[in-house]
Amino acid sequence: MSRAKACVAILLFVSLLIAVVVLAALLVHERGKENTAQAAGDSGGTQVPRLKQMACDVVVVGGGISGLYMAETLLRLKKERNVCLFEKDSRFGGRNYDHRFKQAPNISTSLGAWRVDKMHKRMMDLAKRLTVPLKPMGKFKDVFIQARGIFASTFQSLKEKAFPTLMSGPFSNMTESEMYGFAWRNMTKEKALEIPFYRDFLCQRLGSEGCELLSARYAIKRDFYEESTLCRLEKRQVFKYFSYEYYRPLGGMSDFPTAVKKSALRLGVKVFLKEKVNVLERKGKGFAIHTDHFSALAKKLIIAIPSGAFEAIMGDIAAEVKENVMFESNIGKNVFKAVAIYGYPWWENFTSSQNSSEPIVERLWSASTCLVGLMPYGQQTKAGSNVSRHDLEKWAKRPFPGEEVYMVGEAYSSLPEWNEGALLTAYNALKEGWEISNPEP
Ligand SMILES: Cc1cc2nc3c(=O)[nH]c(=O)nc-3n(C[C@H](O)[C@H](O)[C@H](O)COP(=O)(O)OP(=O)(O)OC[C@H]3O[C@@H](n4cnc5c(N)ncnc54)[C@H](O)[C@@H]3O)c2cc1C
Repeated sequence: MSRAKACVAILLFVSLLIAVVVLAALLVHERGKENTAQAAGDSGGTQVPRLKQMACDVVVVGGGISGLYMAETLLRLKKERNVCLFEKDSRFGGRNYDHRFKQAPNISTSLGAWRVDKMHKRMMDLAKRLTVPLKPMGKFKDVFIQARGIFASTFQSLKEKAFPTLMSGPFSNMTESEMYGFAWRNMTKEKALEIPFYRDFLCQRLGSEGCELLSARYAIKRDFYEESTLCRLEKRQVFKYFSYEYYRPLGGMSDFPTAVKKSALRLGVKVFLKEKVNVLERKGKGFAIHTDHFSALAKKLIIAIPSGAFEAIMGDIAAEVKENVMFESNIGKNVFKAVAIYGYPWWENFTSSQNSSEPIVERLWSASTCLVGLMPYGQQTKAGSNVSRHDLEKWAKRPFPGEEVYMVGEAYSSLPEWNEGALLTAYNALKEGWEISNPEP
């Protein structure tokens, strides 16, 4: 064989070898893909790693007060036997979250919810049944208001110093609540629908300086810039039933979910912490729920997470919920909560100098934009939307007619931003799906 022929033969052999190696690699890759798809089961093309299989009659997504209450009540009233609950965090309670700082270990600091209104009947009934002791919170006192770079200690002095043009008009001597009363005079649902941006409504009724003052005073900008007029009107109607007499459990509001969780565990609810739900989809006559580690099949599905968290969930059920105009109307309001720890209890001297044994809760308000909202406080209806929260609440109790899916939580309530609203939606779902009219004895 000539030298040239030998070179060509070697080249051909090496090319053949490379082709065989590439083909083998492709085959192994394809096999891997098949295995992953098998592990994902029938997940509508959603690729998830191999998950442990499990079956539950009811799956609850979210371990805040609404999810825990649903799970606990279904077992307590013997309506279900096999209830599983998945919570993404390493603790239960969601936005009922208390923390003890090491500098003040005897004080439970509420980083989320902090109070119950005396008229919140569902919460009060729950406190009674689970013996959660409550103590009165005392009076609120606004001591510091800051806007337009000016510091004031009362609403009136803020008005005089930072909004002087208001001093020559009808608002010169009005208190904050009188100004709101003025804005809401003769208000009806029809009128609210005509001006669906709350800020436009307020500025129309109070003038630009008037609405600016209330916006600066209230400090939560989202209420003014991103809330619908109808939502605000509906909230005003609900707030009429508040007593404004507040109570707080000794260990903070997380005493509520802690007590419900304890009862749920005793009754046999299967709870899974650090188990984020990623996919919600239909499967056969029921539902498939994929978490970080499990693929659960369920006959009934209870969704107990707010709309912001829900956005991240995949699957056909999640997609259809997200497309619905009711869901789309909802927007989360974020808040920043600051905590101050003092070297000595100065308020003890303060209350005795006021000759009062009642604690005084001092509040500081700042219209500064340097504090960024960190935690979803509660839900409101988007500015410009004409969806009523009463319709949202009705829709959520069974978003797919004829199917066993229920959505609960503050986010889908006509009383948003309150635990009472979260329980209200749970009551609705219990009635709708299990014919429970009065879940508390
Ligand atoms: C700063 C602040 C102050 C407040 N003050 C008060 C007050 O004084 N009084 C009052 O009554 N209310 C107050 N609220 C509102 C109250 O905290 C809420 O209304 C209530 O906690 C809502 O409960 P929920 O069950 O609807 O939702 P959440 O408490 O939000 O519970 C939802 C749960 O779902 C979990 N989750 C989310 N996504 C997933 C997922 N993919 N998979 C699994 N789990 C998931 C979350 O981790 C959470 O535990 C306040 C809220 C805040 C933030």
